[in-house]
Amino acid sequence: MATKSTEIAKQLTYLAGALKAPRILESAVRLADQARDAGWSFEDYLAAVLEREVSARNASGAELRMRAAGFGARKTLEDFDFDTQPNVRNQVAALASGGFLTEARNVVLLGPPGTGKTHLAIGLGVTACRHGHRVLFATATDWVTRLSDAHRAGRLAAELVKLRRYGLIIIDEVGYLPFEQDAANLFFQLVSSRYEHASLVLTSNLPFSGWGGVFGDQVVAAAMIDRIVHHADVLTLKGASYRLRNKGIDTLPSIRTTTGENEN
Ligand code: ADP
Ligand code: MG
Repeated sequence: MATKSTEIAKQLTYLAGALKAPRILESAVRLADQARDAGWSFEDYLAAVLEREVSARNASGAELRMRAAGFGARKTLEDFDFDTQPNVRNQVAALASGGFLTEARNVVLLGPPGTGKTHLAIGLGVTACRHGHRVLFATATDWVTRLSDAHRAGRLAAELVKLRRYGLIIIDEVGYLPFEQDAANLFFQLVSSRYEHASLVLTSNLPFSGWGGVFGDQVVAAAMIDRIVHHADVLTLKGASYRLRNKGIDTLPSIRTTTGENEN
């Protein structure tokens, strides 16, 4: 009997190694005791062992995806206080299911500084990582730098193809700095290459009417907004800056629609 269980233990060690699932070894033994005590069927036992492995894999995969995404700070939708933004509560709750990613829909977060646009964008990114999607987060300026570098090196097309393998790209702070003509064109190519293929989340402190000033061209801006908004949820955040709450400061200087203002 002792020899038989030693044989099985050896075989399990080999099989778990071959499957690259070393955790199965531990859960198989632990769950077998539980199964005997509780009188599980063979099928119940197998499902329990496999389920442990799958959820451990998902959790470590999500963690890897979050680290690779480049979120400045880890913010989640669960941490967001919707009492300050009650009018987006239902929209965000619907997005939290992750369905927008499989439908390649976009999300646009608009509103004044400090109202939680970046927080919600990262929160949606974290949700996407948990749902198994690869995510990249950067500011609009950083995206343009990345695309310009690729363009100069003659590999813009390859870069855009590579980026399409990411289920979600987050473009933070559209409108903080106006773009040169070349930069606006690169940005347009990024938006076009993802249109109806993969999702974008964008944040801006400017309403769409101010985007012409950012892209230096009303026609380019209109064509871009058209593609972004065709399949999108637009969330408009309102009110005073969350950063300034309880600081005795009620309002910030208003945002100019041509250059934008950096609040930091
Ligand atoms: P924005 O991008 O609109 O300028 P942020 O998302 O950067 O604003 O928010 C500023 C700070 O306030 C961040 O630390 C963010 O986590 C926090 N914050 C903003 N709104 C909320 C909220 N409703 N609930 C919890 N934290 C918030
Ligand atoms: Mg922000």
